[in-house]
Amino acid sequence: MRLTSTGGQAQPVTFAEALQRGIAPDGGLYLPVTLPRFAAPQLEAWRGLSLPALAVRLSEELLDGEFPPSVIADLVSSAIDFPAPTVAVEPGRFVLELFHGPTLAFKDFGARFLARLFGHLLGESGARATILVATSGDTGSAVAQGFFGVPHIRVVVLYPTGKVSPFQRAQMATLGGNITAVSVPGTFDDCQRLVKSAFLDPDLSALGLSSANSINIGRLLPQAFYYLASYLAIVDRVGDPVIFSVPSGNLGNLTAGVLAQRMGLPVERFVAATNVNDVLPEFLATGVYRARAARPTISNAMDVGDPNNFPRLMALHGGDRASLAGNVHGHVIDEAETRATIRETWARSSYLLDPHGAVGYAAGLRQRAASRPGTPIVSLATAHPGKFGGAIREELGFEPQLPDRFRDWAARPLLDVPLAATTYGAFKAFLMERSPAPDGH
Ligand SMILES: *Cc1c(COP(=O)(O)O)cnc(C)c1O
Repeated sequence: MRLTSTGGQAQPVTFAEALQRGIAPDGGLYLPVTLPRFAAPQLEAWRGLSLPALAVRLSEELLDGEFPPSVIADLVSSAIDFPAPTVAVEPGRFVLELFHGPTLAFKDFGARFLARLFGHLLGESGARATILVATSGDTGSAVAQGFFGVPHIRVVVLYPTGKVSPFQRAQMATLGGNITAVSVPGTFDDCQRLVKSAFLDPDLSALGLSSANSINIGRLLPQAFYYLASYLAIVDRVGDPVIFSVPSGNLGNLTAGVLAQRMGLPVERFVAATNVNDVLPEFLATGVYRARAARPTISNAMDVGDPNNFPRLMALHGGDRASLAGNVHGHVIDEAETRATIRETWARSSYLLDPHGAVGYAAGLRQRAASRPGTPIVSLATAHPGKFGGAIREELGFEPQLPDRFRDWAARPLLDVPLAATTYGAFKAFLMERSPAPDGH
């Protein structure tokens, strides 16, 4: 696969190079120059494959020539080793559950795929890397869990002290090994500033610093796989279009859906479902892109005021707003409607939505009015309701259970390291003192 930058000023690179660089040297985001397009008979032949098996087949097609088939099969099947069922909730209305991975959120798909491929590439080149991540909760947990135990890579996750949930903290801070969680006495923005300064600091070049945020194409690509799997699980006839409603923040998940569409997935329309942080729906309606500070909501992983995958989404539509607006409709769901959707979906169908999934579901309902009758609507559910027990209890009067394997999470010892100050000097000293051991652990 060859990729070029949305900045238009960078040399084309291989998938392996794009994955290791993260961002292109011209500051743009990498996009495939061409994608294979799978016709209906080919898709039909894949019906009945499990998601892990389909992910291996698609990866073989996409990464052909860059990795030997046996390596692809090993890496991809160990990365995507959990299901993503599509559940019928009401007639013609489905939920694609993306929350059955280790951190109970869809970011597990991208983080685990990126981690496995990155570790393999470093093994080939003999290099070592340190991944730096600033997180307000979900990204850091998915990256920490995804990279845990992957050779040649150390991960340093910075999170704001007291501002992530106890469960999210445990998922970053109880691993040990090659994962270090750093608790920063400040805000998420402080964490992000420290990470940015470190990336620009020539004194740290020996650490092989790299990032794993959602602009990395290695996180995006595997998210295209579950759209195809979900489609094949529900349509009567391959070729019939469906609608996908995507709870959106940084627009990585939505962009991955458009990549799947370019590979032949029959989509009538995408719905960009946002909470009141509605930069994309506003742009689709007015043509004005207005970045701004995010407002806090109960679907907080979508509280994004300047979505970082926007340039990719535009580039995929030729830079043309009308073309984007034809393919993607935006719907904004406020807090009251999010809460009402949790209540009403439970009352009507006994189906439990978390706040992010509820935004997607509500936006899908609105889209139905504007669509051809009978077109199935698949709403993506990005987080397990048990992660947002407080909001669910407020609406339904009970707190949902986490899956059994999490029963003892609160008892595991916390290994996070407090940073003394939010100054870059303090963080740099910390990074230099704890430079990676030769085996990368
Ligand atoms: C990150 C996240 C989102 C937003 O996804 P994007 O790819 O950034 O648009 C939605 N829901 C949950 C639970 C998330 O963690």
